[in-house]
Order: sequence, then structure tokens, then C-alpha cells
Amino acid sequence: MTQTVSRPGAGAQQVPLPLDVGAIRADFPILTRTVRDGKRLVYLDSGATSQKPRSVLDAERWFYENINAAPHRGAHQLAEEATGAYEEARAKIGAFIGAPEREIVFTRNTTEAINLVAYALSNAVTAKEPEFRTYAVGQGDEIVVTEMEHHADLIPWQQLCERTGATLRWLGLTDDGRLDLSNLAEVINERTKLVAVTQQSNILGTINPIGEIVARAREVGALVLVDGAQSVPHQPVDVTELGADLLVFSGHKMLGPTGVGVLWGRYEVLDKLPPFLTGGSMIEVVRMEGSTFMPPPQRFEAGVPMTAQVVGLGAAVDYLQALGMAKVEEHEKALTGYALAKLAEIPGVTVIGPADTVARGGAVSFTVEDIHPHDVGQVLDDLGIAVRVGHHCAWPVVRRYGVPATTRATFYVHTGYDDIDALADGIREAQRFFGVAPSGDSEGATS
Ligand code: PMP
Repeated sequence: MTQTVSRPGAGAQQVPLPLDVGAIRADFPILTRTVRDGKRLVYLDSGATSQKPRSVLDAERWFYENINAAPHRGAHQLAEEATGAYEEARAKIGAFIGAPEREIVFTRNTTEAINLVAYALSNAVTAKEPEFRTYAVGQGDEIVVTEMEHHADLIPWQQLCERTGATLRWLGLTDDGRLDLSNLAEVINERTKLVAVTQQSNILGTINPIGEIVARAREVGALVLVDGAQSVPHQPVDVTELGADLLVFSGHKMLGPTGVGVLWGRYEVLDKLPPFLTGGSMIEVVRMEGSTFMPPPQRFEAGVPMTAQVVGLGAAVDYLQALGMAKVEEHEKALTGYALAKLAEIPGVTVIGPADTVARGGAVSFTVEDIHPHDVGQVLDDLGIAVRVGHHCAWPVVRRYGVPATTRATFYVHTGYDDIDALADGIREAQRFFGVAPSGDSEGATS
């Protein structure tokens, strides 16, 4: 595997990329459009949402044009075919992360998947069935998160604690953008009911040592939920190796449609969770006096599901598998190393997060001295470069590193070195525009 470690001032190296960027770009219709008066779209915001290849768009259209019906209802041919396509996609998406289909629950996105678990844990408190009370959370119990969680993996746990009287605890961060595990054994202890941790930080790019956290959680009998929103799209993830109990991710960040996400859970864990949303198609027997519920995954899929989106996500998984997730990871590692080295060459630019590519993904957040991140973003946008600015829904992280916000570039399968060159040139353009171009930057002065 390519190891590209950036050293400040060492010079950016373009190692050969494992993916054919030119061929891949041709699969993404949106990349042919121009923005801001005819400029090439340099899309460096895949971490917020990814663009979609034609095969994903075609799969959704095919579903609506040919077999559109509500799955798991009705005995007509369209309903049968729609059910078949929906369940086939479930099996394919399960296989993508090494899981059997009965462990795959479709949600709207990562946020909804985490809320599903958090509400199941508080619904467990008042559940009639003793089985459903297995993971009930109450006073004296603790939920553990980390300071680098996206708000989607923080607020639902804060709210769960407010509803149940449980206590929220968290692992802090080191100055170089890693999890501080020095007090792991104290923070995860006999009172811990669940540990929720991101596999790859959406703001720092850090890849967390999930194995170490799982090992400690196992010692105390706590559940582990992994937020895979930024890992499943970018690196091979196999739940049998991950060792966690629950994994959540979003389709729209992995070339799939919006409106579909995944909750994976070990079957024996899912089976003991009471439902979150209730209604049609999650029931076994309904009487006016009360009802019983289907086993997982149906127990957690009330209402007509996002069928075309699930089919579209199946096509996204096909696309990623054809590229090979190991290659996707290697591609992004090479780009990240190049980007870190390019940014290190620009005086006044500080990367917030690990400075090299060891246990690090392709979310590169940075500040530019004397320019507010929103202003950096605006200059880049004028040049056709789409990045994200702000606190990236991880407000405690920017607070931890003492910055108001950052500018963030994220990469994907269609990203090439030319995109990163455009970013570096754009940052220099912003420095010139705001009159803060450092005198020591020879490239900035001449370009
Ligand atoms: N977790 C992480 C690490 C994320 O990056 C995101 C999206 N930015 C989410 C959770 C939430 O994902 P969604 O908005 O698709 O629910």
C-alpha cells in the first residue's frame, strides 16, 4: 500500500494514483458542468455529500420506470418485483460490510440510525416484554462518546441521558488531533452501557483505534456503536473484523442517493431492541388492545421504505466494489499525503488534525492566518472550488483547537492531483485578495 507521509517543506510528491481519475470522472454527469462563469467544477466536498455516478441515477430511474410499487405489501407482480429488488439490495449492501441481510436495517441516514438506537435504549425502560428491557438505560448508567463526534453522534446521546437520567462521559483529544486514550479504562467502566465512536473524523480526518475501544468495552459488557459515515465510503470495513455491535452510515456519502442510510447490528443485539418508529409493516399481530412486532430488520422499518433509494444504494455498492475499496483507500491516502504537503508549503496555513497520513483519512481541515474560513470558502467558490466551511457539525472539535471554524477539503474516487493544485492556488489567491500573502511564499508572489 502506498505510504505518502507529508513533511512540512519536503515537497509534494505525485505518486501514481491507483484509480483512473479520467475514466471515473466520465461516469459522473455533474462533473461536466461548469460553475461561476464557466469554471471547471472542482468538487472537494464529498465528505458533506458525494456526487453520483450515472449507474446510480440509472438504477433509480429503472426502478420507477419499471417496477415501482410498495415492497412487502400487495400480491401483484410489481409489488413482488419491487420487494425482490429491495431485498436483493439489502443482501448486496450487507455483503459490502460482511454482514448477513437480516442484520441490515434501512434508515433515512446516519443521523436517523443513531436516533433509532438511542430511542430504542430509552423505549426499553418501559417495554412490556422482558427481552426488550435488556439494554434499558437509567440513572447510574453511563454513555461514552468522544470529543470528536459529529453532532449526529453526540446530541442523540445527550438527549438519551436527559430522558433517562444516565450520565454522558467522553474521551478527549490530544493536541495532534487523536483520541486521548490515557484514561480509557476509567472513562469506560462497569457503569458504561454504550460507547459511541466515529471510525473516521469528518473534521480532523483521524482514523480511530476501534479495536482498542471495543476490547475495553467488552471487558465491562458495554455495547459499541461505530459511526461509519466517513469510513464506510472510503475504506474497506468488515463488521466481523470491526468487532463492534452496531455500525451506522449514510448512502449519500458513498455515491448513493440521499434519503437512505444503514444501521447494521449484531442480530442478537438488534433482536433485543424495542422499536423506535412504529406503524405499518413492522407488526406481527395487531389488536385494538395491543400489538406484537416483527423480528429485525422489519421491526425497525415502519412505513413504506425508501425503495428506489435502496436500489440506488445497491448500484453505488456495485460501483465501489468494481473499483475495489482497498484501491479507493489507497487513492485517497495518496491524495491526502499530497494535499498535506501542498498545504504545508503555504505560509500561514495550519492543518487542524494529524499532519501525516498514518491512521488518517482524507478530510483535510485548515485555517489560513488572518482570513476567516468563510472568506476563504468564498474566494475558492468564485474559482469553482467547492469546499466546506464552518464547524462541520463538530463544534466541540473547533472549540478544542481554539479556532472559530475551518475550511475543509474532502476527496473521493474522482479527485485528482489537479483538484488539489487548484485548491492550493485558490488559497494563495485568497491570501492575495485579502492582502495577507506572506512575503516568504515565492510561489504565491509569482503565480
Ligand atoms: N457522522 C459523521 C462522521 C458525519 O460526517 C456525518 C455527516 N456529515 C454524519 C454523522 C451525519 O450524516 P447524515 O447527515 O447523513 O445523517
